[in-house]
Amino acid sequence: MARVTIVGAGIIGLCSAYYARQKGFDVWVIDRDAEGTDSCSTGNAGMIVPSHFVPLAAPGMVSMGIKMMFKAKAPFAFKFPPTLDQILWSWMFMGKADPEHVAKCETILRDLNLESRKLYEAMAEDLGIGYQLVQRGLLMLFKTQKAFSEEKKLAERANEIGINASVHDLDGLKKIDPTVTMNVIGGVHFEDDCHLTPHEFLAALRKKLREMGVHFDLGTSGVNSLTSVQDKVEVTTERGEKFDSDYVVIASGVWSKALAKQVGVGMPMMAGKGYSMTLSNPVETPTVCSLLMEARVAVTPMQNGVRFGGTMELGEPDDYINMDKVKGIAESIPGYFPNFKESDFEGLPIWHGFRPCSPDGLPYIGKLKGNPRVVMASGHSMMGLSLGPITGMLVGEILAGEDSSLPINQLSPNRYVRN
Ligand SMILES: Cc1cc2nc3c(=O)[nH]c(=O)nc-3n(C[C@H](O)[C@H](O)[C@H](O)COP(=O)(O)OP(=O)(O)OC[C@H]3O[C@@H](n4cnc5c(N)ncnc54)[C@H](O)[C@@H]3O)c2cc1C
Repeated sequence: MARVTIVGAGIIGLCSAYYARQKGFDVWVIDRDAEGTDSCSTGNAGMIVPSHFVPLAAPGMVSMGIKMMFKAKAPFAFKFPPTLDQILWSWMFMGKADPEHVAKCETILRDLNLESRKLYEAMAEDLGIGYQLVQRGLLMLFKTQKAFSEEKKLAERANEIGINASVHDLDGLKKIDPTVTMNVIGGVHFEDDCHLTPHEFLAALRKKLREMGVHFDLGTSGVNSLTSVQDKVEVTTERGEKFDSDYVVIASGVWSKALAKQVGVGMPMMAGKGYSMTLSNPVETPTVCSLLMEARVAVTPMQNGVRFGGTMELGEPDDYINMDKVKGIAESIPGYFPNFKESDFEGLPIWHGFRPCSPDGLPYIGKLKGNPRVVMASGHSMMGLSLGPITGMLVGEILAGEDSSLPINQLSPNRYVRN
């Protein structure tokens, strides 16, 4: 049985293990972290988002970013002084943030998201936690007419391409979610979206994978280097151990860039640091997840309370908690949900995670150039949870040498490699 080593036990690594094992591979998952606490996959907002068919690199993002950069509590930051990689990444991002790029990405993002959502249903049933997948859609909520009008256009486009979205005034929103008091002018209900509690899903998936015979090496040592040697890949751990694997899948989130470099492939990636806080005894518990659009805050009812997440701080990963940004999240919530108070969030543990962001807003999925036995699965930015199952399925197909169930040319991890 051919051995596959998966580096990273976040949502992408675990989903890759699930489908690779189904294809009959001997699967080993290595993570330097014990229970995924370091990963971006645990504390995120838990939303599965067909609504996100527009990539991060889109018109208006650059000017909005520049405006927000100088406001301490704004939901965006750019780390100063920037590294050379950060400057290059930003240059590439700016080159892509135009309508042509958005049009080019629309179909693949829609298909990835809708297919992944379908796979989630089957997977959650298989893990015995089908009830945790809450299929009530997502509400985009607005306080300003300008932003609401923009979203109405997007909702129209969504319906044209087969994603169900409906526009509502406040009374309409109250009927969709009567459990939370809202102070907004209206919103869009993306009906195909859904949500779950990520850390519980990951725990159930790890348990299932163990039952399926997947081997785990968690919390002992990370992977230090990879070397392609004829028909094997030599893996060296941070403790200096070496072993051979028939295939390696790099699913190491924002740290994937370093491993790709090890085997000679330059793959631009920046960390988009974000924060979340979970209120275990909220004054009200919404039944539908929502995005507070002007504030760029995500709100998700979970098994252990209501989670509020946001902020995108672009740069290399670091563990510094920017309290201005955290305050910005807490301050914005009563404006949308008036029964919540900023003080509700005082003293709550603050989680942070690094979105693995590619400059064009598309994930990197495929074999690395010159290394046919090394498969990249990363760069999912703000959609990694959503795209976990479809990424895992595509990885399984690539490993097995099968045709891909979706066209993956646009997702090539070699798209920034100069010939
Ligand atoms: C605030 C916030 C909210 C979000 N909300 C959503 C949402 O609602 N929906 C959505 O779809 N996405 C969301 N995201 C994005 C999503 O969380 C990420 O895209 C996703 O978790 C990335 O998963 P991953 O498996 O690629 O990386 P990670 O989860 O970061 O996993 C990578 C793993 O690799 C390990 N690793 C790294 N290097 C090595 C090495 N050399 N050796 C061994 N192990 C290694 C790390 O320890 C880590 O466990 C959100 C992100 C943030 C920050």
